[in-house]
Amino acid sequence: MREELRQAKRVIVKVGTSSLTHANGRINIDKMEVLVRQICNLANAGKEMILVSSGATAAGLPSLGFTSRPDDIALKQAAASVGQGILLHMYEKLFAEYGHTVGQILVTREDTVKRSHYLNLRNTLTALIGLGVIPIINENDVVAIEEYKIGDNDTLSATVAGIVEADVLIILSDIDGLYTANPATDSTATLIHEVSVITDETYKIAGGAGSSMGTGGMYTKIKVAHMATNSGIHMIIASGESDNSLRKVCKGENIGTLFVANDQGVSQKHHWVAYGKRLSGSITIDEGCTKAVLNHGASILPAGIIEVDGSFEPGDTVSIIAKGKEIARGLVNYSSTDLLKIKGHNTQDIARVLEIDTTYDEVVHRNNLVIIH
Ligand code: GLU
Repeated sequence: MREELRQAKRVIVKVGTSSLTHANGRINIDKMEVLVRQICNLANAGKEMILVSSGATAAGLPSLGFTSRPDDIALKQAAASVGQGILLHMYEKLFAEYGHTVGQILVTREDTVKRSHYLNLRNTLTALIGLGVIPIINENDVVAIEEYKIGDNDTLSATVAGIVEADVLIILSDIDGLYTANPATDSTATLIHEVSVITDETYKIAGGAGSSMGTGGMYTKIKVAHMATNSGIHMIIASGESDNSLRKVCKGENIGTLFVANDQGVSQKHHWVAYGKRLSGSITIDEGCTKAVLNHGASILPAGIIEVDGSFEPGDTVSIIAKGKEIARGLVNYSSTDLLKIKGHNTQDIARVLEIDTTYDEVVHRNNLVIIH
C-alpha cells in the first residue's frame, strides 16, 4: 500500500501551529525552512503540492504584546489578522528562495458548503495548481464567527483534499501517528503503521471526544481520516518534528500511520454529483463536444452547446444531453439565463456577450462532470 504513495501526484500537507512556532508564538524559522524545502523538492520532482497551514493566531500574539491567546474573540481575530501576514511573508520568502510561487487562500465554512462558493474555491485551486503555484490555505479566522467555523485545520485539510481530489493528505503533527494507547501515559503503547478500515475500536484507541486528546487531537484526526478515506484519499499522520517526514512518506517509507483510502470512495463522491442533488435543468451538446467529453476527458465549453432547458444558477446540477440521451451530469458554472446568451459562442466572446470582466472558460469543468451513460 505504501508503494502507492510513491505514485501520488496531488499531495496536501497540513501543518499545525506547534510544528511552525515556538511556545511564545514566534515563528520557528528552522522548522519552517525544513517544511518548505521538502515541499519545494517534491514539487520539483513533479508533484502538485498544496499546503494547509495553521499558526496565524499564534504568530500574531507577540507583535500585539500578548503572552497567551486572548479570550476576547475580536482580539483573537486581531491576532490572526496580524499573524496571517507574518506567516505568509515568511512562506513567500522561503518558497521564493527555492524558486516557487505561492498563493494564499483563506476560507470560511460557507466556502466549503455553499455550492457556488465551493465551485469557485475548486476552480481557483485548480487554476493555481495548473499555473504551478503552491496554494497555502488557512481558515479565514479574521471574519469567521466561532459558531460557523470549520474550527480546526485537520478538518479543513480533508475538506480541501476532497475538493481537489488529492491522492494523499499528510498531516504533520506533534505526535508521529496513532498509537495503541496514549504514549504519554502508557509506556507499552506502540505505533500503528496502517489502518485499513476505521472502526469504533479506532476511535476508542484515539481517546474519545471527552479525553484530553479530544478536539483538535487524535480523535479529530480519526474523524478527518474517515472523511478523507471515504473520498478515496489516503491519509497519513506523521511527525512534524522530524526533518524529513514528507520526503519519507512520499518515498513510501513505513513511517507514521497510514489510513488507507476506500476504493469505493471516489465513486461515492461522483455519486454525489450525479445523484445526490436535484437536477435543475439540462444542456444539450453537439457531436463534437460529445466526442471531446466522452473520448478525451474534455470540459464542456459554450461553443458545443446547442440547447439549454430549465432554470438554474451557477453551482446547480444539470443533465448533459447528447442526441436526446443523457450522457452525463455536472455542476454548472453559469446560470441558464447566461447560458442562453453564450451558447454556441467561442470562449473568448463570453466576457463581451455577458458584459462582465471575469468569466470561466468552461460551462461545466471536467472535474465537476460525471459520465453516467
Ligand atoms: N486557523 C488557526 C490558525 O491559523 C489554526 C486552527 C488549527 O490549529 O487547527 O491559527
